Amino acid sequence: MWHLVWDVVVVGAGPSGSAAARACAEKGLATLCIEEHGTIGYPVQCAGLLSTSAFAECDVSRQSVQNEVSGARMVSDLGGELLFDARTTKAYVVDRCRLDLEMARKAADAGAEFLMKTSVFGVRGSCILTRGVRGREEIPFRLLIAADGPRSSVARMLGLRRPEVYLAGVQAEVPCAVDPRYVELHPNASPDFFGWVIPVSGARARVGLCAREGAKDCFDRFIARYGGNSLHLASGVIPLGVMPQTYGRRALFVGDAAGFAKPTSGGGIYTGVRSAKHAADVAAACCARKTFDDESLKDYERRWMDDFGKELDIGMKALRMRRKMTPEDIDRFCRALNNPDVIETIVRHGDMDRPGALIRRLALKPALIRAMGILFASGVRQILTGQENHHAW
Ligand SMILES: Cc1cc2nc3c(=O)[nH]c(=O)nc-3n(C[C@H](O)[C@H](O)[C@H](O)COP(=O)(O)OP(=O)(O)OC[C@H]3O[C@@H](n4cnc5c(N)ncnc54)[C@H](O)[C@@H]3O)c2cc1C
Repeated sequence: MWHLVWDVVVVGAGPSGSAAARACAEKGLATLCIEEHGTIGYPVQCAGLLSTSAFAECDVSRQSVQNEVSGARMVSDLGGELLFDARTTKAYVVDRCRLDLEMARKAADAGAEFLMKTSVFGVRGSCILTRGVRGREEIPFRLLIAADGPRSSVARMLGLRRPEVYLAGVQAEVPCAVDPRYVELHPNASPDFFGWVIPVSGARARVGLCAREGAKDCFDRFIARYGGNSLHLASGVIPLGVMPQTYGRRALFVGDAAGFAKPTSGGGIYTGVRSAKHAADVAAACCARKTFDDESLKDYERRWMDDFGKELDIGMKALRMRRKMTPEDIDRFCRALNNPDVIETIVRHGDMDRPGALIRRLALKPALIRAMGILFASGVRQILTGQENHHAW
């Protein structure tokens, strides 16, 4: 049903937008979700690796699941290797297109209205300006949820500051023989992040990497090891670091639009969907009280910070350390961690979405203290050789 004034307009029908639209509709709010593409889920810009808890947050059937993984192999490419195997499913490899579509369907089933092939190009007071299949329109709203992804045009329209650092990601799906139980991580495939090999089956994998600079050249070198006969090539950006303020001017920012991707992995679905649920709770409270000032919206920031803010902070610190490491440091780091006690701790307490608790446990292990010495030495070396990078991240 079309409303004259919508309680909530959600911009973007990715996982964060559909989760927000579903949660708002389930709370009885008149909810409209606007998506600029004509089809949900395309183009796919994702490796499709979701921890079991991230997948549970999406609250969908298993129809998008292509594979289950129980562990990871870290390969330094200089001989050092580490294998973690929990011997139970730790993550799912999903078809992102199917996942996004099912999430949108659940939102529509809950009563959210979808307006496809329509782009939001402006905000005037409490109306958004759109152009698309219905021509140009001004759509009145009480609250806006910006789920419009890493390049969030809504943030620019409202004059809010964006995350400052963006990683470029490139990935191909290729036929290759892989162990379907393990994700492979190749830190040295990228100068400042890592490369991945994610098994879709025993005969197919998504091979990709992220880097701040030179991603395409690094990717060409990395993919050459796997043949490169790709029928699917994906690229996209991942914002790093949360925008300075995630609410304001009747809007709440969720998912990649806010910069919630995890700095340690680039994964953004877990935090995206969780932030969407917090936004829906605050939207319901604001609509009930009929207050939409910044003071009322600020509760959203408090909620997501309490939930995963600390994890994002720890992730940024870990990423800054990783950027200082040379390929030789990474190799030594892998070898130092290759200790039964450390591996047992990682297997038992590792959580892709909340690495903070594991890092605190590992900090007490003698083997890790040795590995931390490697990190410390690499930081000191950069300062001594004048290579210290003074960028914020
Ligand atoms: C190469 C790569 C691999 C990745 N792999 C993983 C992974 O394995 N696991 C993981 O958890 N995360 C991964 N990510 C990150 C993940 O893809 C994002 O965090 C996730 O898609 C964020 O969801 P979102 O809904 O916030 O934004 P998006 O998925 O980007 O959705 C935003 C939506 O808004 C729409 N939109 C934008 N502007 C407008 C507008 N003006 N009007 C209307 N609609 C608009 C877009 O069309 C889009 O549909 C990866 C990212 C990259 C680049």
